[in-house]
Amino acid sequence: MLYTRREILKLAALLGASQILGACSTSTKDIEPELILMNGRIATQDERRSFAQAVAIRDGRFAAVGSNEQVMALRGSNTEIIDLGGRTVIPGLNDSHMHPIRGGLNYNMELRWDGVPSLADALRMLKEQAARTPPPQWVRVVGGWNEFQFAERRLPTLDEINRAAPETPVFVLHLYDRALLNGAALRAVGYTKDTPAPIGGEIQRDKQGNPTGLLIARPNASILYSTLAKGPKLSRQDQLNSTRHFMRELNRFGVTSAIDAGGGFQNYPDDYEVINELHKRGEMTMRLAYNLFTQKPKGELADFTQWTKLTKPGAGDDFYRMNGAGENLVYSAADFEDFLEPRPDMPPSMEPDLKAVVRLLAENRWPFRLHATYDETITRALNVYEEVNRDVPFGGLHWFFDHCETISDRNIERIKALGGGIAIQHRMAFQGEYFVDRYGAKQAERTPPIRRMLELGVPVGAGTDATRVASYNPFVALYWLVTGKTVGGAVLYPASNRLERMEALRLYTVGSSWFSSDEGKKGSIAAGQLADLAALSADYFSIPEEQIKQLESVLTIVGGKVVYATGEFSRLAPPPLPVSPDWSPVKTYGGYWRSGSQAAKSAWSDDATKIAVTQNRGSRHDTWSPWWLGCGCFV
Ligand SMILES: [Zn+2]
Ligand SMILES: [Zn+2]
Repeated sequence: MLYTRREILKLAALLGASQILGACSTSTKDIEPELILMNGRIATQDERRSFAQAVAIRDGRFAAVGSNEQVMALRGSNTEIIDLGGRTVIPGLNDSHMHPIRGGLNYNMELRWDGVPSLADALRMLKEQAARTPPPQWVRVVGGWNEFQFAERRLPTLDEINRAAPETPVFVLHLYDRALLNGAALRAVGYTKDTPAPIGGEIQRDKQGNPTGLLIARPNASILYSTLAKGPKLSRQDQLNSTRHFMRELNRFGVTSAIDAGGGFQNYPDDYEVINELHKRGEMTMRLAYNLFTQKPKGELADFTQWTKLTKPGAGDDFYRMNGAGENLVYSAADFEDFLEPRPDMPPSMEPDLKAVVRLLAENRWPFRLHATYDETITRALNVYEEVNRDVPFGGLHWFFDHCETISDRNIERIKALGGGIAIQHRMAFQGEYFVDRYGAKQAERTPPIRRMLELGVPVGAGTDATRVASYNPFVALYWLVTGKTVGGAVLYPASNRLERMEALRLYTVGSSWFSSDEGKKGSIAAGQLADLAALSADYFSIPEEQIKQLESVLTIVGGKVVYATGEFSRLAPPPLPVSPDWSPVKTYGGYWRSGSQAAKSAWSDDATKIAVTQNRGSRHDTWSPWWLGCGCFV
């Protein structure tokens, strides 16, 4: 009896790999795995959340999962064996909401303060980077950090930024609320005494009317992003290199998939040329499903009408595929999460605008996602969705909301009834302190109400919304899900709104797969699924909670190929990829802070600073006490 290869692999997985070999006339060579990983503690994320010791990979998919004996029985003469040495292995992480296509174009020209432990370190890196950045380039710190992560627990001053960089333009973005520009950056963008006050933002001025360098997102962040967009771009060649480095950086943290939420200034199709090219060349080291984000206020329907003629959901392959519309569907529905400002009320045009676009999308069977921070916005969007659904049933369309920090139980139920999902991110880990300041600790306890979403049976995916507010590091997001803490250490959630580690991991794997209609195809280490996994630097399941945010991958595999390897797996690492341009901060510092790395060393080269910061750091836990810690809910 002859079996097709697919049938054999399926049977092998069902029966226990060793039983199948004698059951058919196909030679073992035809079914022998290319790769076996053994001696691991493999958290499979199968239905029973079981652990396995070994996994076999063939043709980019998992072929068998089981004990060392079961899987090693499949070994053929050409099978490569990797001894995991007891390492914990997880399915490749899937960030269901980030902006990696845009992030990749800019990665090599951004200085990252993500995870940097002190402002002294951050300013020293800024100073060093300013000295090596040639004109007309800028030094940009664009999100991924906040002041609460610093030992000093404060923002840099404009004076400090001007001292660190007297001549090179510097743009430092803080969350969604402000940007700090030095004098050189003000000159580069041309903001002077005579510059009129912009619509949708504020240029802070001194008594003489001269811009100070502080830009404030009041009432929204457009002034921040439109100013950032005035900076020079990287060349096409450098953008290709930059995107590859960003993917590698994500691979460093075990990320093997993301769903790209588009983004401001991320135009389709123009700004997709670089990722298209990398896809064509086979140089993508993570999988991307991407949503199309309209860039035209009042022209949204025209955009989507055009795009429904140009492409369709599912176009592409498992590495790079169109996933539908969003996260911006219409500008009149975009409620930015700047918790330093009051909640924005959406204009009355939101409903008609949204109705036209959602109707078009439903008619064309386009899945869609919508950025929505506040329950009030969600209520209004759901009113529209329910109305459209009566006319053009969504029936099985994987539509969802992003963020949903303040969503009510009632609206979670309405999402469930309409077959939708919710993609959550750890934005509160960066903005939680500000949220508590405005709305109180009690309200923050269910912001977002993750456990309620799960209890009510709505599909939930995890992610970061990187790169402009939160960092892309998934372990910081997992840490937030498990501990309920911000990056500054403030506890936001009671135990009833925190997740078990297994459950948190599930949202980041199986959970996220629903959001690109990939359920059953990725997210678990199970026969037939795409062979994406990561072996971790320490055991996620047993280390102290505080150490979760320090986890990294030591071996990341995508589609059966090693895309990142370090430590004992270094010999498997892909060839080095030189960073371009030469002055890129990535060349010196890498991305997310590495303790003991060159970033740390160069930032620590000044002994006087070192002593001061060490002292400061040593006393950190004793001295910091957030002003709201008096609240009885958090101690
Ligand atoms: Zn958003
Ligand atoms: Zn986003």
